[in-house]
Parts: sequence; structure tokens; C-alpha cells
Amino acid sequence: MAFEVTPLPYDDGALAPAVSAETLSYHHGKHHKAYIDKTNKAIEGTDHEGKRLAEVVAAARGSDQGLFNNSAQSWNHGFYWHSMVGEDVSPSDELKAMIDDAFGSLDDLKEKLQERGAGHFASGWVWLAEKGGKLSIEETHDGDTLADQDGINPLLVIDLWEHAYYLDHQNARPEYLKALTKDKLNWKFASDNLARGTTWEYPA
Ligand code: MN
Repeated sequence: MAFEVTPLPYDDGALAPAVSAETLSYHHGKHHKAYIDKTNKAIEGTDHEGKRLAEVVAAARGSDQGLFNNSAQSWNHGFYWHSMVGEDVSPSDELKAMIDDAFGSLDDLKEKLQERGAGHFASGWVWLAEKGGKLSIEETHDGDTLADQDGINPLLVIDLWEHAYYLDHQNARPEYLKALTKDKLNWKFASDNLARGTTWEYPA
């Protein structure tokens, strides 16, 4: 079965002013769809058909850059839609304790995500991840992903590509990061990912 664009888990306007309905319509309806369409086209009639998306990413890594880029970007965007939320939610007690331990407080973590995201050169992604029982902030460049990486469990991600924020904030990536981290990150999703202890699976 072909991969599909994951439906948005909220209304188009739910993330404003951090991310507007207009940005979501292009980003979800055009960018994510293009990555999915290209992935489906590339795997049609090959051994990759029927694999989980993360398995396609792992198989393409280092051997087929075109398929890797499109499959990894497909996975990252599905994960990103779930990393945001329309209402302010809190981390679980387990996640909160680990945040306090690694960063001091939730506000300190938000500041670190803003700093790392703003400092990331060119396109990519900034992640909150769990590695060996500890939280860390990770960055990946271009379409690279944590989806297929052993020993690391991605909890949340923020898209740093210009298409994620240009319509709303123009070149001001720090403003996008500030608005997003303020009250639009889905700490419930992060808590669920932590509690499960294995990497989130892109819907089959
Ligand atoms: Mn994107």
C-alpha cells in the first residue's frame, strides 16, 4: 500500500500565530504531499513496497540519495505535524523530571530549542530526543532524520526549512521558534513517545 500524507491532528487555524492556516495549507498540502508522492513513485514495483516508512529510509540511507531525501522528509513531516498542538498541554511527570534534570526547567528547554534552531545553518530539523535514558537536543541537516537511527528515540521535532515559516515570519526564524515553543509544542506527544520507549511509527 502506498504511503499517505498524515492528516493534520488539528484545524488549519489552530497553530496561529506561530504557524498560519496559509502556511499549513502549502506545507502540508504541497510540500509534504510532494515528498510522499515521490517516495511512492520511487518504491513502486520494488522490494521496498510494503515496508514501514522508517525501513525505507534505513534502506535508502547511504545508497539512494533521492529516495532517502524523499522518504526521510515524508517521515519527518508526519512527525512534525504531531509535534505541534492547538492547546497548551503539559509534559508527563516522567518527562518533566527528565527535562528538569537535563535543562533545568521547561522554560530553559524552550530557550535551548530556540537557540539551537536559530543557530542551525540553512535547512534542517531540531529535535528533542532521548538517548540512553537522558534527554538531548539534536540537529539534522536538510532531509536527514532520526527515524532510523539506533539507540535514539525522537520525542519532538521542529522544521527549520524556510517553507515552514517564511509566509508568517519572513526571514525571522527566531520569531517562528519563539512563537512555536511558547505554547504550540505537543508535550503530550513527547511524553507518549518517551513512555513507549521506541521510535514513533509513520502510519502505514
Ligand atoms: Mn517542511
